[in-house]
Amino acid sequence: MSVSLWMDQGHLKENTQTFDIVVIGGGIAGMSAAYWLAKTEPSMKIAVVEKHRFGDGATGRNAGFITCGSVEHFNRLVENFGKEKALEIWRFSEDNLRFLKEEIIQGQEKGLLFEHLGSFSLASTDKEFEELKESADLMAKLKIDVEVLEQKAIEERLGAEAFVGGIKYVNDASVHPLKLLHAIKTKIEQGPGQVSFFENHEVYDIADNGDDKLVKTRGGHFSCPMVVMATNGYSPQIYSYFKDKIFPTRGQILATEAVPRFMEGPCYANFVLDYFRQLPTGELVIGGFRQLQKDVEVGYSDEITDVIQEALEEFIRKHIPAVRQAKITHRWSGIMGFSADGQPIVGALPTDSQVAFLGGFTAHGLGLAFHAGKVLSESLMGQALPQFISAKRFT
Ligand SMILES: Cc1cc2nc3c(=O)[nH]c(=O)nc-3n(C[C@H](O)[C@H](O)[C@H](O)COP(=O)(O)OP(=O)(O)OC[C@H]3O[C@@H](n4cnc5c(N)ncnc54)[C@H](O)[C@@H]3O)c2cc1C
Repeated sequence: MSVSLWMDQGHLKENTQTFDIVVIGGGIAGMSAAYWLAKTEPSMKIAVVEKHRFGDGATGRNAGFITCGSVEHFNRLVENFGKEKALEIWRFSEDNLRFLKEEIIQGQEKGLLFEHLGSFSLASTDKEFEELKESADLMAKLKIDVEVLEQKAIEERLGAEAFVGGIKYVNDASVHPLKLLHAIKTKIEQGPGQVSFFENHEVYDIADNGDDKLVKTRGGHFSCPMVVMATNGYSPQIYSYFKDKIFPTRGQILATEAVPRFMEGPCYANFVLDYFRQLPTGELVIGGFRQLQKDVEVGYSDEITDVIQEALEEFIRKHIPAVRQAKITHRWSGIMGFSADGQPIVGALPTDSQVAFLGGFTAHGLGLAFHAGKVLSESLMGQALPQFISAKRFT
């Protein structure tokens, strides 16, 4: 958002509040950062500032998979990063789920529609199945829990047709993403920290204010020595530093009415590009196919397209008989932040150490952001960041 000279005057300056840290962005990343900061240093005054309502970004629009690893099959992760780092990336997301369970989810599984059933990657070609088997081999050697499935098992356990084979990631989970976000917020409110929450406060500038930063929103200004940006896909709108590091990328989904339970757990297909899961309440959620309109599925516009929505329906007709007759009840889109190398980016601006950030979750924020918030919080207390996540890898 740009703000004119005329809008930027007067009452806002009188309306400046002071905090120790201002977190910009009220999605899973911003809320997680606030959670860990408040837990570590309860005496700190923290503000979480969101331009719309909490969860209105990708966090309230995703499919709810809490998966380990990254956007690629494990064999490709090993190819790109080497065995040791691939395992480190995997364990980072396993810890993400463990922390989420221990700190937030425990005791409220039902209310959050949380299920720990594993997830599946399904191949519709022999070539992809070969890659999946290679991945499973590598994973088993590294003691990651994985299972290989042949076609018949996919039909029986997942109700999915026309797949050649697949693998099961035994430790994955799924959740109602917006309820999870609000559960983190509630935990913050119940904790010892001093965190204030501001919705409908769009940040349009971050300026110097003596030794501090002045975070300007049209609802008021915030003065603080440290800013944490958790604006993910929207980050390049605020600092050009992110333009070649985090790319706004749209994803689309549709949901059907509830049908009797037929799937063992959530599934990815087609090299992690397409995905579907049945909620504990019976609805099927299916998304993906951005590969059909790569030039269109970029930027910030909250739109659905006929091409992708039709491809999602065709996928149902081809692969998922249990919902062929089911009514489609919802269609939506959301903006993700894809990073340059598929891994999250945590750090501080090279030109301004008072502006820290976490983002670039590349369609896997539920599997990464809670832990990323923890390491960001620790880095502000002086600890080093894991190299694969540190923004310094780009300098
Ligand atoms: C269709 C779709 C399906 C997905 N499926 C999955 C999935 O199943 N599993 C998974 O792990 N991930 C999935 N993702 C990705 C996941 O949703 C994201 O990785 C995650 O939500 C990122 O969280 P975040 O807090 O970094 O970003 P966001 O949730 O986008 O939060 C950023 C916030 O910053 C706010 N903001 C932006 N600019 C400003 C400003 N100037 N001032 C104040 N506030 C601002 C935004 O309004 C937004 O609320 C999916 C995403 C989409 C779109």
